[in-house]
Amino acid sequence: MAVLVALASGCGGGSGGSASAPAYHADDATTASDRTGSHADDDEDTPAPRTTPTRATSTRTTSTKTASTRTTPARTTRPSTPAGCPNNSLEHCFTYSGMEAFYKEAIKFVDQFMAGSYKNMPRPAHYYYLRHGMTASGPCGGPDDTAYEYCPANDSVYLGQDSLWEFYRETGDAGAVVGLAHEVGHHIQTTARVPLPSTAAQGIRHENQADCIAGAFVRFADGKGWLEYPDDLNDLDALLRKIASAEGPDRDHGTLAERTRSMRLGINGGLKACNPFFPATPVIS
Ligand SMILES: [Zn+2]
Repeated sequence: MAVLVALASGCGGGSGGSASAPAYHADDATTASDRTGSHADDDEDTPAPRTTPTRATSTRTTSTKTASTRTTPARTTRPSTPAGCPNNSLEHCFTYSGMEAFYKEAIKFVDQFMAGSYKNMPRPAHYYYLRHGMTASGPCGGPDDTAYEYCPANDSVYLGQDSLWEFYRETGDAGAVVGLAHEVGHHIQTTARVPLPSTAAQGIRHENQADCIAGAFVRFADGKGWLEYPDDLNDLDALLRKIASAEGPDRDHGTLAERTRSMRLGINGGLKACNPFFPATPVIS
């Protein structure tokens, strides 16, 4: 995806694990001790309050099956200021140690998506980044460096360095960003008061809607000229293949066909196309 310049700047089932230290913001990331999480956004500076690690549902991106999704190529009007990335592209620009910086770039995309799609959609309360070896405490258990999830109980997104690197390396920059958009989709569901699932079937429907919202993000990104062709389409295919292969017999996400269909709904029709999953609680009016 193209570098942005001037910007407006977990899924299904709890994530187990034991809680440990409280989490800190990204500003503190360089000084935070191991086993602490850090905030990936810049505009807050108060350490998050420690929360009792009672179980709650969190929503994890990883795992699903979807096929490929093709959008009409748009000519790319790329912002001109790089973030140290060659060709103003986030692809092949970051290393494992640079995942926090990449995360900050990814957050800019999804924040712009929300700001551009809604008049009053708040950002998630927190975007946490969990460096290698860190475990955060929270109401959804103890997200760690393998997290790629959203916790509705505290409206927070948790991305771990190891998972982020895995997605970035294996599915490319757009795959990793669209994975984040799926988690932000859960935040949008929560804000829209889409009921939390209480059955497996509801959970899958919930996840499919988050995929649809991720598809709406792709549509938005395409409209903004952020996508790089054909690289980002390949990334999306790789993402879908990857999450598809994570699917098991006790699936809590859509099948490959379901996820593909869900994401295509969002790509073709935007956020409104995601309303029919839960018509009583539309994600956009
Ligand atoms: Zn999910």
